[in-house]
Amino acid sequence: MTAGATVWLTGLPSAGKTTIARALAARLEADGRRVEVLDGDEIREFLSAGLGFSREDRHTNVQRIGFVAELLASHGVLVLVPVIAPYADSREAVRGRHKAQGTGFVEVHVATPVDVCSVRDVKGLYARQAAGELTGLTGVDDPYEVPETPDLRIETHGSTVEESAAAVHALLAERGLTI
Ligand code: ADP
Repeated sequence: MTAGATVWLTGLPSAGKTTIARALAARLEADGRRVEVLDGDEIREFLSAGLGFSREDRHTNVQRIGFVAELLASHGVLVLVPVIAPYADSREAVRGRHKAQGTGFVEVHVATPVDVCSVRDVKGLYARQAAGELTGLTGVDDPYEVPETPDLRIETHGSTVEESAAAVHALLAERGLTI
């Protein structure tokens, strides 16, 4: 059986994390791979219900997702995680847990600049922040700690979704994680 792994797509809101994860999942499934996408909004509705957006709650959210991802990955699933994960120490803790369990972990920084994200504004968050209806938006008035040494950094502006998904697919192939 091909080994599982967690592929964490970190980046600002509207960077393209979810879109890339869905396109990549379709490709991997077509390859015959077992794939799970852990959607951030779904997780907040169930696994992390009650958590907010303070530093502590964001950390807890990321640790819970990391825990579930590692469990699935340890059973041969490729787990795609399109979740902001703004703090470096949270991401490092997840990487450390995977390492301790001997499970693969790949960090992909979806490095779309904030001015591009705020124009895309898929969920209307940037507009709400600008209108004073929301505070604590990652990359605007809440921190985003840019990954210093991600396994892969993708610039989505000027690339198609398929090109971005292909870049991650190529890295997974290099690591022997595709069929
Ligand atoms: P996130 O999950 O990071 O909040 P989404 O994936 O929901 O962001 O939204 C990203 C938006 O950017 C989508 O509307 C998507 O079609 C668009 N987009 C444009 N180019 C790309 C690309 N190369 N990769 C991913 N998304 C892209």
